[in-house]
Amino acid sequence: MPSAVAGPEIERLIQLLARLPGLGPRSARRAALFLIKKREQIMAPLAAAVQTALEKIEICSTCGNVDTQNPCTVCRDFNRDPAIIVVVADVADLWALERAHAVNARYHVLGGTLSPLDGIGPHDLTIDALVSRAHDPAVKEVILALNATVDGQTTAHYITDLLHDANVTVTRLAHGVPVGGELDYLDEGTLSAAMRQRTAI
Ligand code: ZN
Repeated sequence: MPSAVAGPEIERLIQLLARLPGLGPRSARRAALFLIKKREQIMAPLAAAVQTALEKIEICSTCGNVDTQNPCTVCRDFNRDPAIIVVVADVADLWALERAHAVNARYHVLGGTLSPLDGIGPHDLTIDALVSRAHDPAVKEVILALNATVDGQTTAHYITDLLHDANVTVTRLAHGVPVGGELDYLDEGTLSAAMRQRTAI
């Protein structure tokens, strides 16, 4: 263990920053130092923004999106096609599809994918809620926008089976999503193409 070079408050800041995705201990130290140097311009507004977001964050009880209102901004948007539900594993995938302007529809966030190895079963995900939403007569199509991984495709098949008696067309993303690929890492063009060229299952 290297000895601490700063007081416990700064060490704690570094430890917490190191837990952010993409930041290791070295970059966390660099980020902490940057914040300390820019404490008026960056650190204080960041601390205030984190506090405000923390107080206001809500999980949409309809679709599972993260927002500061419930129902979320997407579910409240009446310009979206109510006939289409886009099913994603994670909020990051919803945000990626929105960035790509891939589809003007509603979403459903599963909260993950089925993964027997990790002990994630149907009841750990919002699959029941999706099935009841899909039975709304207004819904005509369910697009499974899931990762092209084994778990993603297992989940897609599972949901497709559950929706067989719902009066909806079930489609999934086609060309453009590489095998083993994760949606959040695709560029906008690839995502848009995959959404346009979706196929019936
Ligand atoms: Zn919502």
